[in-house]
Amino acid sequence: MSSDVPSETEPRAPAAAGQHAFQAEVSRLLHLMVHSVYTEKDIFLRELISNASDACDKLRYEAIAAPELIAEDQRLAVTLSIDKPARQLTIADNGIGMSEAELIDNLGTIARSGTRAFLDRLAAEPQGTSSGLIGQFGVGFYSAFMVADRIEVLSRRAGSTTAFVWSSDGTSGFAVRPATEAEAASLPRGTRVTLHLKPESDSYLEPYEIERIVKTYSDHILFPVEFIGESVERRQLNTASALWQRSKSEVTTESYAEAYRGMTHQVGDPALTVHYKAEGRQSYAVLLFVPGERPFDLFDVERKGRVKLYVRRVFITDEAELLPSYLRFIRGVVDSEDVPLNISREMLQNNPQVAQIRKALTGRVLTELVALAEKEPERYAKVWEAFGAVLKEGIYEDFERRDQLLGLARFHSTIGTGLRSLKDYVAAMRPGQTEIYYLAGSNLERLKASPQLEAALARGVEVLLLDDHVDSFWTTRGQKFDDKPLKSLTQGEADLSAIPYLEGKSPETPTGDTGALVAALKTALGEAVSDVRVSNRLVSSAACLVAPGAGPDLALERLLQQRDQGLGLKPVLEINAAHGLVAAVADSAARGRSDDVRDLAGLLLDQARILDGELPQEPAVFVERLNRFVTRGLSGTGAE
Ligand code: ADP
Ligand code: MG
Repeated sequence: MSSDVPSETEPRAPAAAGQHAFQAEVSRLLHLMVHSVYTEKDIFLRELISNASDACDKLRYEAIAAPELIAEDQRLAVTLSIDKPARQLTIADNGIGMSEAELIDNLGTIARSGTRAFLDRLAAEPQGTSSGLIGQFGVGFYSAFMVADRIEVLSRRAGSTTAFVWSSDGTSGFAVRPATEAEAASLPRGTRVTLHLKPESDSYLEPYEIERIVKTYSDHILFPVEFIGESVERRQLNTASALWQRSKSEVTTESYAEAYRGMTHQVGDPALTVHYKAEGRQSYAVLLFVPGERPFDLFDVERKGRVKLYVRRVFITDEAELLPSYLRFIRGVVDSEDVPLNISREMLQNNPQVAQIRKALTGRVLTELVALAEKEPERYAKVWEAFGAVLKEGIYEDFERRDQLLGLARFHSTIGTGLRSLKDYVAAMRPGQTEIYYLAGSNLERLKASPQLEAALARGVEVLLLDDHVDSFWTTRGQKFDDKPLKSLTQGEADLSAIPYLEGKSPETPTGDTGALVAALKTALGEAVSDVRVSNRLVSSAACLVAPGAGPDLALERLLQQRDQGLGLKPVLEINAAHGLVAAVADSAARGRSDDVRDLAGLLLDQARILDGELPQEPAVFVERLNRFVTRGLSGTGAE
């Protein structure tokens, strides 16, 4: 037997005709899903019904331009059936269907960006906690392999004369072949997914169980989901009405939650539901949800939203960007009565009606968030924790709504343990204080211990601690709140002298001439810093670094440097002239010991870097200097 004949026991042998390997991500996902402890297996049915419904949506949309596609069979529906003796559950639709190439592409790869990162996170999760994560991802078609050990997908693209069959056991890849005549005849259009259920998945052969799952997860699906039993008549399991078209008083909290889970593929409840009908210049119904948890792709570079645009109950697109990027975490539906049905998706971008809806919708969402923040601050705090980092993007992107967004923003601060609003901040400002002070960085604990805070703390001045990446960006735009400018404590000079110290907190004022000291330090440090000056923000630390007055603050410059976009601006070293170590520099300078001045200056700079969470400039030199001084100090004490 020649070695290149494919054999069933060698999965890596060259593929037979029609045989395909899964994309690596799909294999990983399948493996995780089948072997992990994801307990909510029921959701496979929601995923397959959701795909069937999407397929009906797509056909209805294509049929606007090509009515012949739908002419022979106008009633779009999803049909479930069970064959108990054969242990099969089938989910069929008469939607758009898939061509051979689409079967290979769609059911062998995962198109969504961020998949790899998601899988890495999933793999890093300890066993047993991943169900929430999988839920957030919206596992899709492949989830059916949790309950089936073999799946066949018979599909015919609308308008096509040929049909194909995709089949797989979910491990070694999949095969695609032309449908037999009998198969093709049984499916004039659309897709039929046949699950060969695993022995432990018997419950899905029970009609009442199927009905229960459909009611729980798929009631909101717009198309009828019907069940055909062996002897029973066709029976519709879901309500199949557009929830957003009903009036608020008719909809229960639980129905909203179910619709939310169906739309977002998440578990749990929405953090906020926005449901209303706009009437006037334009009529449209809106049902939006702020999710209870971050969607897995929240920080994708594309920053795309997913609100679905319907026109008179017909799904048009989820790419109309009905909300700005900084509200991309919001999910839901807008159903317009006025946008023309036959508008192409490309034209939507420039459609004035859509632009008007976008504007009104954005305003409404922000108003609802403001109301939530006022009425239920604790619930709002959860929303902010999940999505604040995204909302803050709006502060520098949406000039018009900047004040409203600043009002919505919540921050950690040097006061208390909870989140603070700018309104809280302003109310707590000290006599003589005119600016809103903040410190930006990547680590909250480190920010709390920053030397740059000292003078503010000694004066009882609150400092906002900004630890999201985006904080370094929106704060650069000369922001003001209530006419009070936001001021970084790591940039330029911080003049807090108009604000009195708290009792017993005022530091010693340095004596003697600091001019010579500063000059000596400048000479010693040379190019490493852009300037050296006596600080008015230090109380107990010897030195700290701040950014020069113009340009990015320290945190932003560091972020930019990580991306190789740094401006190369050197920081300013600020010294506390009353500190012993600084006094020692002055003393060495006065005695003309330039070697000591150089070493001590280096230590001052390096410790300022360390306090900012940086490494010393040259760690080996730092250690060597430190050891030298410590040894000298010890032997000095010993000698006396
Ligand atoms: P998603 O629905 O998030 O795109 P899925 O894994 O559920 O991911 O499905 C993958 C793709 O397979 C779908 O995007 C769609 O193109 C295709 N697909 C799945 N089921 C059907 C179906 N019943 N009819 C037509 N296409 C389908
Ligand atoms: Mg899907």
